[in-house]
Amino acid sequence: MTEQTGFQYIDGERRTGRGGTLERRDPATGDTGFTVDLASAEDVAEAVAAAQRAFVGWSRTTPVERSELMLAWAGELEQVAEELAALESAQTGKSLRLATEFDVPGSIDNVRFFAGQARSLQAVSAGSYIEGTTSMVRREPIGVVGSISPWNYPLQMAAWKILPAVAAGNTIVLKPSEMTPGTSVMFAEAATRAGIPAGVINIVTGTGPVAGEALVRHPQVRMTSFTGSTAVGRHIMGIAAEQGKRVHLELGGKAPFVVFDDADLEAAARGAVAGSLINGGQDCTAATRAYVQGDLYEPFVARVAELMAGVRMGVPSDPETDLGALISHEHRDRVHGMVTRAVEAGATVVTGGMLPGADQAGSAPGQPGEVPSSGAFYPPTLVTGAAQDSEIVQDEVFGPVLVVLPFQTDDEGIELANDTPYGLAASAWSKDVNRCFRASAEIQAGCVWLNDHISITSEMPHGGYKASGFGKDMSVFSLEEYTQVKHVLANHDPHPTRFWHEAVFR
Ligand code: NAD
Repeated sequence: MTEQTGFQYIDGERRTGRGGTLERRDPATGDTGFTVDLASAEDVAEAVAAAQRAFVGWSRTTPVERSELMLAWAGELEQVAEELAALESAQTGKSLRLATEFDVPGSIDNVRFFAGQARSLQAVSAGSYIEGTTSMVRREPIGVVGSISPWNYPLQMAAWKILPAVAAGNTIVLKPSEMTPGTSVMFAEAATRAGIPAGVINIVTGTGPVAGEALVRHPQVRMTSFTGSTAVGRHIMGIAAEQGKRVHLELGGKAPFVVFDDADLEAAARGAVAGSLINGGQDCTAATRAYVQGDLYEPFVARVAELMAGVRMGVPSDPETDLGALISHEHRDRVHGMVTRAVEAGATVVTGGMLPGADQAGSAPGQPGEVPSSGAFYPPTLVTGAAQDSEIVQDEVFGPVLVVLPFQTDDEGIELANDTPYGLAASAWSKDVNRCFRASAEIQAGCVWLNDHISITSEMPHGGYKASGFGKDMSVFSLEEYTQVKHVLANHDPHPTRFWHEAVFR
């Protein structure tokens, strides 16, 4: 059955786009699953115009007005939580359990967090720095923000972009991935039901080259915030640079997972499996490269393989399923291609690494094994023996694949962790507080977890170092990024005598 998931949501109402439609296969079954309505450049221009009109009123609302509307919005989202989770799971292939317990409650918590932050943004401070004057700093919204988001966590990525922008008084046009636009539209519709004025939040559901570029290039879009691949992020930055616009880029990752030889083996092995397989590994912070010190290497590999074999891969809607399908068949083939090339280059697959239907994957020991062979499934895969400079260690796989490599000295472990272009997230595992704090200081990443991996919270910033971009999502840091700072100086001395006051009157 074909379900329509994409609609333009402009000025508080659904519209049909003028950019044609996109047919998507259901990732879990391979059947024709979704028809996505595509925006044209004209649709984008209408959305920006609606956001520009709405900015006049929204930017003048008080923090408490915005906060109360956002709290009501969280209430509206609670009402449709089940539908949101079902659509999030269906359009991505992720397990319903993940969508229900992680994506939807996380997004609603983000709404409540930014409702609070809207009131605590330090908008004004005052002081006297020149005799006879008072200086003030105002934090003001920027205007219309254009945001572009990826397919891996469609609802959470929409939330991370929309919430700080509107909490700070901006209006927004979001272009979600054309693969997964449905829940972003539902998110915006709930805002309208809560009383957030039409035009404050607009969604255009189109492709990157058409709708995405039209949004970035639009002269009335004052800032572009983007989450997606490093290649597209750099392309967008190039366009923004031509117009001198502000950009905020959350890009790819290749998170290292450094296990020192005094670590708790069981905790680290469980952390590696959970951290590498969450969302099918389609997570920019997923554990992708585990470096394990000395004698702990062999038992770590054995325990991770054992735990991976027990992961229940299955159809996303089954409540017993831990690992659903990947986003698409093309992506599944890309993941498998990277594993295949790693093996050709000399690496070893310890578990997984085969397409379901090819005898083993999905029916490996401990797995239920019943996945439709027409779906985009890929089993938990553990690779050893890859070279540090090989593709599978250096590039994003974005699938349920963990590479484990040995190291000897602490210096070497940290050096290997830093040896990719990326720097989004990392973890270090040790019972020694000195080792942990050294790792947290020396690993070049926007987040370093100690004896943990993946944990995120609305209060803390998320964003990269190096090729993983710049700009922060969540936390007060992101709110500040969607503001501009103005100095206001009031002179209260009728006869000012500073040099510049008298410079031209001698
Ligand atoms: P992608 O870069 O292919 O697409 C992201 C978005 O950009 C989509 O909406 C797409 O339509 C749009 N786009 C593509 N070409 C464009 C163009 N020329 N102009 C304007 N927009 C364009 O990424 P993806 O495959 O959707 O998502 C996976 C990537 O996202 C991975 O690299 C992952 O690491 C990254 N990601 C990063 C974070 C983070 O917080 N750093 C979070 C989630 C995902």
